[in-house]
Amino acid sequence: MNKASRIFCPALITPKNAVVKQTEQLSRSQKLLTELGLVKSGSNGTYQIMPMAQRSVDKCIDLVQSNMQQAGGQKITLPILTPTGLWKKTGRLDGDISEFYMVRDRSGKQFLMSPTHEEAVTAMLATTSPISYRQLPLRLFQIGPKFRDELKTRFGLMRAKEFLMKDMYSFDVSEETAMETYTLVNAAYDRLFKQLEVPFVKVNAATGIMGGSVSHEYHYVSPVGEDNLLQCSSCGFAGNSEVVKAPASCPSCNSSDLKEVRGVEVAHTFLLGDKYSKPLGATFLNTTGKPQSLVMGCYGIGITRVIAAALEVLSSDHELRWPKLLAPYDVCLIGPKQGSKEQPEAEVIENELLLNVGEICGHQELLHDDRKELTIGKRLLEAKRLGHPLTIVVGAKSARLDSPKLEVHTSKGETYELDFSETLKLVAEHSQHKKSLERGCFQSETEESKSRSVGHQL
Ligand SMILES: [Zn+2]
Repeated sequence: MNKASRIFCPALITPKNAVVKQTEQLSRSQKLLTELGLVKSGSNGTYQIMPMAQRSVDKCIDLVQSNMQQAGGQKITLPILTPTGLWKKTGRLDGDISEFYMVRDRSGKQFLMSPTHEEAVTAMLATTSPISYRQLPLRLFQIGPKFRDELKTRFGLMRAKEFLMKDMYSFDVSEETAMETYTLVNAAYDRLFKQLEVPFVKVNAATGIMGGSVSHEYHYVSPVGEDNLLQCSSCGFAGNSEVVKAPASCPSCNSSDLKEVRGVEVAHTFLLGDKYSKPLGATFLNTTGKPQSLVMGCYGIGITRVIAAALEVLSSDHELRWPKLLAPYDVCLIGPKQGSKEQPEAEVIENELLLNVGEICGHQELLHDDRKELTIGKRLLEAKRLGHPLTIVVGAKSARLDSPKLEVHTSKGETYELDFSETLKLVAEHSQHKKSLERGCFQSETEESKSRSVGHQL
């Protein structure tokens, strides 16, 4: 179990009347994350992730990883430093290189602090040749930091100079099998974004500097997004405005009800063909024993960006709200105030709850706000701002002898007055919902609230 009194959570306290020098554009979620001590701004466009937010990052990593493994992905780790010579071979240093971080080692050899790893992974396979057609398809992924010297960092983790990415690279024998891999990985992405329960749009994308033929982007729709999307109000079809040149009607259902929205790109998939394998000489031996270029795909998910953008979509100006599978904790339990007249009786209930709730949701998912020197009101306010899915308050009514009651607050803004067993039932429902999401079973929001059967809402 986690005790609030022990968690390093350096909240930002701004003195009254202080003039805050705003050096960077902040989104509402970033503002809350910083104020609440979940994320600290490092220097110049980098971020320090504090323990509570790190739990969310770790959960996101686990979820992405399990979906990639289900799609046949094998996890590897490539060095952050990629020799610039490889990027010269693929022509990617010919254009604008102002966003690349380059370093030299003591012998003068130049490296990129990789913003992406197509060259590195392809060169790795080129030096392991000969690869037999029998070893294909091969799907390799990693989760690690990426670097981009942004001219303007914005909205905290949404666009930082160093960020956490999942990048997968696929290698196939032909265009046809590469397309099968592409479809399979896209299905894994669809499942992942449904598991996160944040509305997303998937659009056909311009392939841009990555090259290749087929490409899709996954976006969260938000005013802070940096891409212009055109979305059909009747069927949901969406296109990137860079690609779809403002058609009069929806290409999918012919409706003329199209609207411009802003999207935050959270994931991207590409079919690359031999754009990288050819110049870097990555081949396999085909059925007749002749070397042939590997056919590639690449698939990215911005881990830290998914979290930041999901929070931006779900949160209000004053309270964070997390995707259920990414909330740092499932349940926050607030005990009685030190020295209150209900303290002795309430603490008996509190201890029973700690045991029982922990057993239902897992002790690691329970945050015990044991800072009893603080009033319940103050701790509840903080719990609400942090957006715990469920917050249980063991207050004065819990000490009543006839019918003790607990106050339960949900991150959706509902408040219930429940007895002991009803409270446990609510926790169990939450845990079951999480488990079904993890299994990939999706239930709509309305069905979920219909199925809630306990207690009465205040
Ligand atoms: Zn349509």
